[in-house]
This record gives sequence, C-alpha cells and structure tokens, in this order.
Amino acid sequence: MKAVLYVGPKVPFELQEVPSRDPGPGEVLVRVTASGICHTELHFESGLLDLGVAPITMGHEVVGRIEQVGSGVPAERVGQRVILYYYVGCGNCRHCRVGDEQLCAAMRAEYGFISDGGYAEFVTVPARNAVPLPDSISDEAAAPIGCGVTTAVHAARLARLAAGEWVVVYGVGGVGFGLVQLARASGARVIAVGRRDTKLALARQLGAEVTLDASTGNVAAHIRELTGGAGADVVFECVGTTETMTAASAALGRRGRLVFIGYSADAFTVHPIQLVVFEQQVLGSVGATLQDLHDAISLVERGVVRTVVDRTLPLEQFQRGLDALARGELVGRAVLVPGRNGGQ
Ligand SMILES: [Zn+2]
Ligand SMILES: [Zn+2]
Repeated sequence: MKAVLYVGPKVPFELQEVPSRDPGPGEVLVRVTASGICHTELHFESGLLDLGVAPITMGHEVVGRIEQVGSGVPAERVGQRVILYYYVGCGNCRHCRVGDEQLCAAMRAEYGFISDGGYAEFVTVPARNAVPLPDSISDEAAAPIGCGVTTAVHAARLARLAAGEWVVVYGVGGVGFGLVQLARASGARVIAVGRRDTKLALARQLGAEVTLDASTGNVAAHIRELTGGAGADVVFECVGTTETMTAASAALGRRGRLVFIGYSADAFTVHPIQLVVFEQQVLGSVGATLQDLHDAISLVERGVVRTVVDRTLPLEQFQRGLDALARGELVGRAVLVPGRNGGQ
C-alpha cells in the first residue's frame, strides 16, 4: 500500500510503498477513506517534535471502513464506518485506569506519533480504537473530529468553562474553530484572535462575539477593553509563539486560566507575582480521552459543533496540504483521501 512516512527530524516526509499489517487478535484492519492534516505534522517535519521513532506512517485524524477483523472481534464489524482513537495506553497505570490514556507513560501505541498512522491506504488498530461513526457525518467531515474536535473537547473540559465567562480563543485553526463553538455552547462570551479575515469571519459565524486581527493593534489591550478592564477568564493558546503567549498572559484576568494547546520553539515566561496576586492558573492540554472522542462525535452529530474542511487532496499530494497549512492558508482542515487519483 501507499503510505506517507516520517523518516527523521528535518527531513521531508516520503511517499513509499509499504506492506499493510494483518490484524492480530483483537485488532481490525481499517481501509482509510479520510485522513486530516494536523499542525502536529508540521512539528514533526520541522524537527520540533521528535519522538525518536522512524520510519513511521504519519496521520492521527483517521476515518475509514473496517476491512478485516482479527480473532476475537465480531465478524459483523466488517464494513463498519469508524474513526480512530489514536492512543493505546498500557491500561494498568493510574492515568489509564481513569481513562486518561493520553497521559500514559508506558504507551503501547500512538498512531501517527510512535506507531503507523493513517496517511496510508490501511491502518491496523485494536478493535476498541475503531469507534463507530454515525451515517449522518461524512468521512471527510468526520476526519477533523479525530484530533481537532477531541482536542477542543478535552481542553474545554480542563478549563472548566462557565456560562457568562469571557473566553479567548487565540488562533483559529482546526482546534480553535471547535473551541469557539464549545465555548459558545457553554454560554461563554467568545473572543477569537487570528490573522486572516477569512478565518475570523468563519469564527464569527461559528459563535465568536468579537474577533481581533492580531496583525493590527494590541491584542491584550483590546481584550481588556472588551471585558471592561477585567481581562479574560479563559485563554486557549493554540499558537504558542512569544508574541501570542505574551499577549495571552497579559489579557488574563483574576482567577483566569491560560490553557496551552499549541506550541512552537519559543518558551513561555511569566512573573509568578502575576499568578499569585490574581490567582491565575497555567494549564497544558494534550490530546483526548476515548470518552472525549465519543463526546466529540455526539457534538458533531447533534450539530453543536461543525467541523471545517478547507479542501481534500489525494494522499499523494500530502505536501501541498502541509505547505498550505504552514503558510496559514487553510480555513479549517486539509483532508487526505487515499485511493483517489493522485495524478492531479
Ligand atoms: Zn497507562
Ligand atoms: Zn492532531
């Protein structure tokens, strides 16, 4: 089968012919029909994220159909439309026992990170990681649920959003659009910050009360003004550069929660006096639990959250998708479609 491989830090991904893996006991073979491109892949490409495992097939936002089942998996599951939960924790540690597999220190698999993922025609995963998808959500629209929406669900949960709070979503990409909608649905007042008119216009459509263009003016001062001087109750940091982190921190109000989701090579600096006297919290949010994925599917099925797909591309054209993402051109996700004619 064709697969897009990470071969090492600071080296472009490679399209290669590799064998697919037959499902072992308890596993399923999934024929991939849609595979979202996440910002994480850019971090692999740049060398910022190096987990020391190569070569490996990229892709953790994966939708497909079960093609084959291993022993112990009901044969009725063949043909089922599924979306992948990309973590396989050890199942025994204190984090796994409460469902926080994303924090497992003895991870058995993490598709598209340390295990072969879904930038390929097939992927093999445990049956429990192939979660059934309702017919009302198309394959392409479902792909961004796998990481984009689940990450937003998880971060929103950690932030403990409350009705009436001012919530800033700093960066309107795959995760940001989900956060805007979740925050709005929880009764919060949403300020979205970005750099492109098209993305900010969509953020308004999805529920942002105000949008701020980060390329003009002082973002933190604007947020202070909008909130009557109080500052934001929650800032979701989806970018993580010095510029955005400084503004996010300066915009945070009393007992505010600054939630990091995005990152770059830049480090975050804050004087503890700010955290102390305003009782602020700085949190990190990584990935999602299996329950978060179930909740994300339900939110999209019920129309509470809508996924945003900018374009679909044949698997072979993965580099075009990555480059467009890196240039900030995409409004929502680029989704790879294996098996579609890649010859332009
Ligand atoms: Zn564990
Ligand atoms: Zn992702």
